[in-house]
Amino acid sequence: MSPHTAVDRLIFTLDLEDHIGTYRRDARFVGNTISVLDLLESLGIHGTFFAVARIAETHPELVREVATRGHEIACHSYDHRPIAAETPESFARKLRQAKDLLEQIGGQEVVGFRAPIFSLTRETVWAIDLIGEAGFEYSSSVLPASNPLYGFEGAPRTPFRWPNGLFEFPVPVSSFFGACLPFLGGVYVRYLPWAMIASAMHGLPDAVVKWTYFHTYDFDVDGPFTRMPGTSMATNLSCWLNRRVTGPRLARLFASRTSGGFREVIASETVSFAPWSPA
Ligand SMILES: [Zn+2]
Repeated sequence: MSPHTAVDRLIFTLDLEDHIGTYRRDARFVGNTISVLDLLESLGIHGTFFAVARIAETHPELVREVATRGHEIACHSYDHRPIAAETPESFARKLRQAKDLLEQIGGQEVVGFRAPIFSLTRETVWAIDLIGEAGFEYSSSVLPASNPLYGFEGAPRTPFRWPNGLFEFPVPVSSFFGACLPFLGGVYVRYLPWAMIASAMHGLPDAVVKWTYFHTYDFDVDGPFTRMPGTSMATNLSCWLNRRVTGPRLARLFASRTSGGFREVIASETVSFAPWSPA
């Protein structure tokens, strides 16, 4: 792999879910997904959409539209419950159901999995074999730093392979004033000064695979303020403010970089995955 390839690649990913949790026919995430698809088309970007499989039931046409526009459909669980909230039995059953549903509706093989809220941690490593047994080839579920919600401190920050062969793309993280942040997530892209994002991008080692993770609400410039169940006012405000900068910053991030989904990146054989086992 040439350093040039590593430096210039950025993968667009989005978690396709209804963050309000209603999954109503007229929910705002539907129109927002179409706006994101239009924006990506105008920028010539293809990426990976991690869809909550429930959407394949409530909004099958939306999942089809994402696939038809040339993006990879991957799985973001059946109903967005963190791994720790499941038993191994319920996790395995719902994961298979989710994969089947997304494949049926999206019309493409689904080989990627992202745990809700990056909830694959040291406490839930039992899920790794189940993800492999369900037929997934890669995961994008580990935040390799300490985090108030879910983090996997000590996990590699470069792509690696679990003992069962499953590929893992860890969330890109960088230090900002002593805090290790997943700075390519939508909320960070909207709030961090551009110079800090640009400097963090350049500071990442070549072996790190860089990827964004947005949500449809990041692009919902006219959306009203809403409360997400079980979250603080500060979380809800940060989710709501500063959305107008998302589109321009996305364009700037991808201006001189190649895109493509995770599946393509694996197929390109330009990334090396070192074996790693959580001791
Ligand atoms: Zn999610």
